[in-house]
Amino acid sequence: MTLRISTVIALFFSSLVFTGALAQEANRSITQIKGDLYRFQNNFHYSVFLVTDDGIIATDPINADAARWLQAELTTRFEQPIKYLIYSHDHVDHIAGGEVFDDAVTIIAHDGAKADIIGEDRPTALPDITFSHELTLELGGQTVELSYLGKSHSDNMIVMNFPQQRTLFAVDFIPIKSVAWKNLTDAYIPEWMEAIKKVEAMDFDILAPGHGALGSKKDATAFRRYMEELYAAVLKAAREGQSLQEMQQSIRPVEYKEWENYDTHLALNIEGMYNQIKLHRRGN
Ligand SMILES: [Zn+2]
Repeated sequence: MTLRISTVIALFFSSLVFTGALAQEANRSITQIKGDLYRFQNNFHYSVFLVTDDGIIATDPINADAARWLQAELTTRFEQPIKYLIYSHDHVDHIAGGEVFDDAVTIIAHDGAKADIIGEDRPTALPDITFSHELTLELGGQTVELSYLGKSHSDNMIVMNFPQQRTLFAVDFIPIKSVAWKNLTDAYIPEWMEAIKKVEAMDFDILAPGHGALGSKKDATAFRRYMEELYAAVLKAAREGQSLQEMQQSIRPVEYKEWENYDTHLALNIEGMYNQIKLHRRGN
């Protein structure tokens, strides 16, 4: 009898431990994008890094645990030090953990990102170098072109173009085959659409996002069209006097129904646009 109870208890605890381990272990990976450019995954977040003969250019650290894992993997796999770390924008879920890298790493971000990292007290290291529009970085015969394309998702988002690898790293403002994230917090519409048009005019083949699978320039165009069409529909509904709840029922862009987060985030995207339109229509 005693034995049976302890067996049950042992089974119970082993299942608890198993569940706990599953909950804590992050899904991390490193995959090659093209040539010396790689993608680093930490659960639902991604950044990229470029390996050169003179060191590694890393991007968003994601968080301290992820950054520690990445640093160890880079040392083991490539035997090259990280020379530069580039932040895409100031949001904490992408750039926390920058302090994990040692002082010899030069951190780069947009001017506005540094201001927000300080202002919002983000848990990361401050950038050593900031810029307002463009910055080209060369290391070991390889190049990264950093560009600020105006306000989009945040007012300090930059894109990182790797011309040798024909790849553009663009975080959060161009979801691929997905509607936008929730109710568009920290969004600047319609500047956002102008920023995507600038991406569409750039020369690259592979679009590497901060979430989800790799895409191409066609995905940028498709997402811009979705946002433009939705914005126009919300503006029209607002001018017709529809309430937010009414337009969340009436606006159904079914051509995008196969996209990620359509069922959960479409109504929130409408809410985000409605709130911005309401602000701009205050004079009425
Ligand atoms: Zn963000």
